[in-house]
Amino acid sequence: MPLWDWVLTKNLLIKHTQKIKKMKKEKKEEKKKEPKLAAPTCDDRNCHIHGSLKTRGKIFEGIVVKKFHKRIAIELERMVYVRKYERYSKTKTKIHARLPVCMEDEIKIGDLIKVQECRPLSKLIHFVVIKKIKEKEK
Ligand SMILES: [Zn+2]
Repeated sequence: MPLWDWVLTKNLLIKHTQKIKKMKKEKKEEKKKEPKLAAPTCDDRNCHIHGSLKTRGKIFEGIVVKKFHKRIAIELERMVYVRKYERYSKTKTKIHARLPVCMEDEIKIGDLIKVQECRPLSKLIHFVVIKKIKEKEK
């Protein structure tokens, strides 16, 4: 009986390793497929997915108030401490962010989006749009 058990466990182990190998292969193939599909739609140099732009630093969420070509402006509310009154007051901050070409159709005025800091791209722009969180509420 112990020998039979040993054979069984060995067979199970072999099956298990084969499964893992298969999964790894599939994952590799998926990775290979993804960039090929997405690359032709976007040849933007300043795109954090397809280009060489790196994101780092602070992340903000805000509502799109204005849209330009390759650029958007978002507005966000934050609390600022006022020392004189020992209280907090709400202030609005406007941030201009780079809008990659591949996301241009997706994002419209009124959407809630996420932006992250990147290297300064121009006098105004040092943020880039990462993703859309919510569509405009009607
Ligand atoms: Zn892109």
